[in-house]
Amino acid sequence: MTSALDYFTCLPKYHVVICKICHYCVWPDHARTHLREKHSRLPKAERALICDELLTWQEVSHSHEHFEVPPAVDQPVPGLRLFQDGKLCRLEPERCTFVCRSIDSLKKHWRAVHKWSATGRRGGSRAAASLQVSLQRQTMVRNNSLG
Ligand SMILES: [Zn+2]
Ligand SMILES: [Zn+2]
Repeated sequence: MTSALDYFTCLPKYHVVICKICHYCVWPDHARTHLREKHSRLPKAERALICDELLTWQEVSHSHEHFEVPPAVDQPVPGLRLFQDGKLCRLEPERCTFVCRSIDSLKKHWRAVHKWSATGRRGGSRAAASLQVSLQRQTMVRNNSLG
């Protein structure tokens, strides 16, 4: 018989549920949608059983309102995939801890959140210095526009 434990695992330290198939954190309230959209191969009746069981799990946050992303962790979080090519935004370290894996995502983030473009000459020396630090952190940049 199908059990929610076949598809989800709980991280007691963070009170969150991780999908064992795609390694994403899933809020139990959103598990029905997650399974339907990402894992539709599972029969509908089975998905329903899994979700009903998941909703009975105690000690887990059922939605993001009760969860704060830790600014840093000492050890890799079990159940989550570990990437070595993360890029940390350094434009405003006192208020931003955005991390992503592609330089394009980082540029989009700079434009959307910091209203700053990596291609223009404007932005000031502080921003340029921060950009350089960010670029140093990732090894695959070829055409960086700082010249
Ligand atoms: Zn999943
Ligand atoms: Zn940022």
